[in-house]
Amino acid sequence: MEIKRIDLNKYKASGKEGHKISKESLLECAQMHNTSEYEYVGGEGYLSPSSIKTWMKCPRFFYYDKLDPDLKVRRVNLKMHYGSSGHKAMEILYKKIMKNEVIIKDEIVSYATDYYQRGLEDPEAPMDEKENLQASEFDEVVGTTKDNLVICVEAYVDNKEHEKVGQILNVEQDFLMTLDGIPFYGIVDLETSSKIVDFKFAQGSAGVQMRKSDIPGDIQLWTYEKNYSKPGAFNIIIPPPKTKRSDRQLVTEICRTDYLTWADEDFMEVTHDMLREIQAGRFTKRGAITGGCQGCRYKESCNVKHSC
Ligand code: SF4
Repeated sequence: MEIKRIDLNKYKASGKEGHKISKESLLECAQMHNTSEYEYVGGEGYLSPSSIKTWMKCPRFFYYDKLDPDLKVRRVNLKMHYGSSGHKAMEILYKKIMKNEVIIKDEIVSYATDYYQRGLEDPEAPMDEKENLQASEFDEVVGTTKDNLVICVEAYVDNKEHEKVGQILNVEQDFLMTLDGIPFYGIVDLETSSKIVDFKFAQGSAGVQMRKSDIPGDIQLWTYEKNYSKPGAFNIIIPPPKTKRSDRQLVTEICRTDYLTWADEDFMEVTHDMLREIQAGRFTKRGAITGGCQGCRYKESCNVKHSC
């Protein structure tokens, strides 16, 4: 497999460190470097870990979510929201470390909770739970999720987890590479001198301890490792419940060798199958691949109720 890494800094308008490339420049850049047999890769001019995961979930869902702007529905649930708020706290924390700033726990916690609150108030991101629960139940779930978020971020800083990752090189850094001429774009949570880290914050939103066996081979880390040539690790962040703190681990580090099952050839085979199908305009319903569909937010358009 031929890997080519592209220096995105050349294509970033502001040239500021840590700035992500604009959507337009990324599309242009990806098309310029696409030397594969596929004219327009994926729905965005490049592939990403999330686009491949979405395709594997259901090609028809991929079509609605990525290729049909009229249909796309942006939905959020509290678990996702918890996850992005936790990520925000980690981003702020590690950026401060990179700038040698003093770490003040309350400040990091406020970033997380303010971000959480803003998300709750975003009219363009309807919460699943808001529609499915009574108002009082919704408030209760929000309260518990927020409490867990605070406990988790506080404990992360108190335990000095941030001092255990080694020298920090990049935080929330985007990259573009081509694999056999196919452009791949991604954003890495944290790059240190010895590894790359992907936080799986949301997995702890309900205070549930994850086991290694619960985690499938991960596409994100596979692509990150290809770009950075470094071993990757999940950091599963578990909020200790208020009562039995000692039973829970705050951070479970799960390394590549513990779980990763993708071989290069298998990954590329999935990728080529996907791109061939997209190019031919075939978006098979999920049932045809996995043997069952429980419906999704596009089920009315898809005309599938509970099976395919
Ligand atoms: S309803 Fe099922 S088959 Fe249709 S898009 Fe959703 S997941 Fe796919």
